[in-house]
Order: sequence, then C-alpha cells, then structure tokens
Amino acid sequence: MSMAQRQVFLFGETDTAPITSPDLQSYDHIIVAFSGGKDSLACLLHLLDLGVPRTRIELWHHRIDGAEGTLMDWPVTESYCEMLAAAFGIPIFFSWKEGGFEREMLRNESPTAPIHFQSVDGLYTTGGVGPQGTRRKFPQVSGNLSVRWCSAYLKIDVAAAAIRNDPRFVGKRTLVVTGERAEESPGRAKYAAFEPHKADRRGGKSRRHVDHWRPVHAWSESEVWEIIRRYRVNPHPAYWLGFGRVSCMKCIFGSPDQWATVRVLDPKGVARIAEYEQEFGLTIHRLNTVTDRANQGTPYPMVSSKWRAIAMSKRYDEPVFLDHWEYPDGAFGESVGPT
Ligand code: SF4
Repeated sequence: MSMAQRQVFLFGETDTAPITSPDLQSYDHIIVAFSGGKDSLACLLHLLDLGVPRTRIELWHHRIDGAEGTLMDWPVTESYCEMLAAAFGIPIFFSWKEGGFEREMLRNESPTAPIHFQSVDGLYTTGGVGPQGTRRKFPQVSGNLSVRWCSAYLKIDVAAAAIRNDPRFVGKRTLVVTGERAEESPGRAKYAAFEPHKADRRGGKSRRHVDHWRPVHAWSESEVWEIIRRYRVNPHPAYWLGFGRVSCMKCIFGSPDQWATVRVLDPKGVARIAEYEQEFGLTIHRLNTVTDRANQGTPYPMVSSKWRAIAMSKRYDEPVFLDHWEYPDGAFGESVGPT
C-alpha cells in the first residue's frame, strides 16, 4: 500500500478496503486552490480526467499582495489565472487579506487585517478583530508555518475563513483540493493525501462537511508536466523564464539565481525588500541580504526573452492552449520554494 493509500485509509470511512481517492460524486462543491503554478494546474486537469463536471468545480486564487499591493507576487499571475479559468469554463473566485503580505509584515501592536472573499453572490468581509500583534519582519525560511506566517495567514487561513463564513457551504459537502507534492520537501511528504479540512464542522450545528484532498501528493514532476502537456496548457510565464516552481515572484525561499533574475525583472521591487531589511534590522533570508543573494546568482538566460514583459504585465494575452506544446525552461529545473 502506498503512503497516500495508507493515509487515506486511516481517514477512510471503511475499515475493510483502502480508499485511494474520495468519492467525487458525493460533493456539492469542489474547490481547487489555484496559484497558477503547475501543481494546482495538474490538480484541475486530474479532476477533469476523472470526469468531474466543470459545473461543480471552482478555482480559488489567494491574492498574496491583497487587492492593491505589488510587493511579492508576479504581476501577471492574476490575469493568467483568470484567462485559464475562462478557457476551461470554470468560475474563479479571488480572496485576500486586506493589505496582503506587506500590511501583515508591518503589523505593529495591531490585529491581523480583515479577509475579503468573492462568492457567487458578491464580496464578503470577515475578521479584522483579534489579539494585537507585532511582526515587523519577513516570514522565516522554515517549514514551520507559525514562523513562516505568509502561507498560513495569506493562503490557508484565508481559504478556511471563506468556507466558514459563506452560507453556501452550510449543510453541504465540500472538497478542497490542493497541489502539495511529497517530492517537494520532507515536510510536504508528511502531509496526508486526504483528511478533514480545517474548516470542517461536520458534527456541528452548521453540518459543514469539508474534506481536504491532495490528489497529486504522490506524483512526480514528470507526471505533473505530462498531464499539462496532454491538455496542451501554456504554463505560467515564470516557467518560461526558467523558474522551476511558481509561487510568489519574490518568495522568501528564492535561490541566488532566482533573486538575480528577479532583480533584472523588477529592480525597484528588490530595492524595496532591501529597504525593509534595513528598517527591520533583519534580512529576508536571515543569513544573507537580498542584495547578497542576488549578487551570488546568475540571471536565467530567458530573462532577456519576450517572457520578461509578459511576466511583468498585469494582463495575460498569450494563448491558454498551445498547438505545439514544449517544455518551458523551468521544467525539471531549480525547484526551490515553500517546504
Ligand atoms: S510563495 Fe514563498 S513568500 Fe509566497 S506565501 Fe509561499 S512561502 Fe511565502
């Protein structure tokens, strides 16, 4: 029995046979946490392969920088996700913490900001009250989400708050699908492939049944690219630039080559990170300044290609599907990112 099977089995609703995937027909809502990166894309395509009707799938994209910010993420990501959702005929909903990464990082004896999320009937707002807290430092490069607060506060908690506060999930069965893979890090290898979601309240008054499935947890990178190739989907522009994983453009886990590339793409943005390092007296990488990191690396060759302007644009105008699909430069390349 594979690790994924064992994990599912432990949580399975039968003690006689392992469950290798949830009963997809049993869910009213299937939410794919969609970053625009290859693993979340593979999740979506896998659901389509399994015959899930598009009418029951929705994509959720968490805006790391909030509605207005520009500090961390790829400018093109939001538009890329929108275009892809439209091409597949699947709705996409955006959600974010007000002020995004930057406001959370600058918290100074204040509560964490409210969360906004789109739904079928409009925009909801929740939270914004709570214990006073001070950060004034970058998240730590760690697998521990309590110190690497960006993933928890800007993605995981935002999704959970949206599910808890949207009445359409009350009395329903909802499946949240995310694209973490065991191969990415020892930390991710320990994640269960299937478990109750943190917003689950199946026994409570709201009878909100929410499961969390990681369908590509046991997949290799080759399998991920293979399904993307089969559907001929044009990968996110960052892959064409040479990035092996696509998350925030200025991810705290960035390698020297990535920082060198990002500095070519967005010199002012890297200068802002350097200014915050000065202000906090703490560097983004803890051991090296962002300038040192960039100086240690070499920009990816594709940084001088047409993909530079595309990645830095707020509007994605490239085709979603390619007639002649080929691997982008970043495929099987440097794979640094959240652990
Ligand atoms: S991609 Fe990197 S910087 Fe962005 S939220 Fe994840 S760990 Fe944090």
